[in-house]
Amino acid sequence: MKDLTQQLAERDAAGLYRRRRVVDGPQQPWLRVDGREVLSFCSNDYLGLANHPKLIEAMKRGADGYGVGSGAAHLVSGHSRAHHQLEEELAEFTSRERALLFSTGYMANLGVIASLLGPGDTVFQDRLNHASLLDGALLSRARLSRYAHRDMAALEQQLVRSKASERLVVSDGVFSMDGDIAPLPTLATLSQQHQAWLMVDDAHGFGVLGARGAGVLEHYQLDSQQAPILMATLGKGLGSFGAFVAGDDALIEYLINSARPYIYTTAMPAAQAEVSRAALRLLDEEGWRREKLQGLIARFRHGAEQLGLPLMDSPTAIQPLLIGSAPAALQLSEALYDDGLWISAIRPPTVPEGTARLRITLSAAHSEAQLDRLLDTLACHLAECG
Ligand SMILES: *Cc1c(COP(=O)(O)O)cnc(C)c1O
Repeated sequence: MKDLTQQLAERDAAGLYRRRRVVDGPQQPWLRVDGREVLSFCSNDYLGLANHPKLIEAMKRGADGYGVGSGAAHLVSGHSRAHHQLEEELAEFTSRERALLFSTGYMANLGVIASLLGPGDTVFQDRLNHASLLDGALLSRARLSRYAHRDMAALEQQLVRSKASERLVVSDGVFSMDGDIAPLPTLATLSQQHQAWLMVDDAHGFGVLGARGAGVLEHYQLDSQQAPILMATLGKGLGSFGAFVAGDDALIEYLINSARPYIYTTAMPAAQAEVSRAALRLLDEEGWRREKLQGLIARFRHGAEQLGLPLMDSPTAIQPLLIGSAPAALQLSEALYDDGLWISAIRPPTVPEGTARLRITLSAAHSEAQLDRLLDTLACHLAECG
């Protein structure tokens, strides 16, 4: 048996130890942690909805109407009217025939990949895809063919050579640790040319990108023919919890009948589905949140460029600063924390070796003054104090 204590000590020495901090109170820019207030730039609550009064109200109403536990899996007795209505609203919002709720995005990705593919098939993935997509490939026992980040020539070569009977091309829409956007129009063309399915994981684009907040496919104006399988989460931009897959009727019925992470798990609470329904309405009623976020992104990038900070090429709310070594990223994150800023250090294996970074995320809930404070503090640690 391996010595766990020893393994943990080795991790610690390499700057790779992972620790949790306990937060008191709701998600918002100012967080109460260990009795002190810190300004957070590491939540995925991009629109500032996780503590929205209308969503809190929706959860309370949901609990009054449905209780708190869903009691069973969707295929038994756990599929409530609230879940069903949310699925219909998501299908309509994404202009697809059907949508299917999953309890988490991680499970949705496992469920889709492992039920569509098996031994003898191939799944093509961007090297920087989210861990859940890689795990889905492993679970499916299909061949995993990874291409260099956004390298469409490499993908084309792999598709040309492939003799697999079923092929699935999968990509993050917005890359979770880099913030850049996948070249989806080319991915769609290549997939169609080579008789492959295309699946897009829009965890970081849904709610945020596109004129109506329908995500990265709306941003690129791609339809359901071009991108037949859409997966997105409800726990990031929507400030709620859970995930869904949207596509045609046959896909959804197939998943209901064969996706094990769908079948063998308890449905999310119906009250949580009511929260997501209310969040969908807010995407329309409070479109200013997307505009405000875009303004903050531009302001941050402009300020960071002037300071000479190691910005990455990202147009989204994810604005990482590339540091390099894991211990250096960790040290910097801890020094910033001492100065009242919470920005997590992202280290291998979440990102490739030598590319540890500070993953800054912006939210419509941040003020310009908070953003300026972020820039001033970063300047002190990474450039020169103003
Ligand atoms: C967060 C995330 C997931 C997982 O979603 P959860 O609902 O948190 O399980 C999947 N894919 C990507 C790209 C993500 O960032």
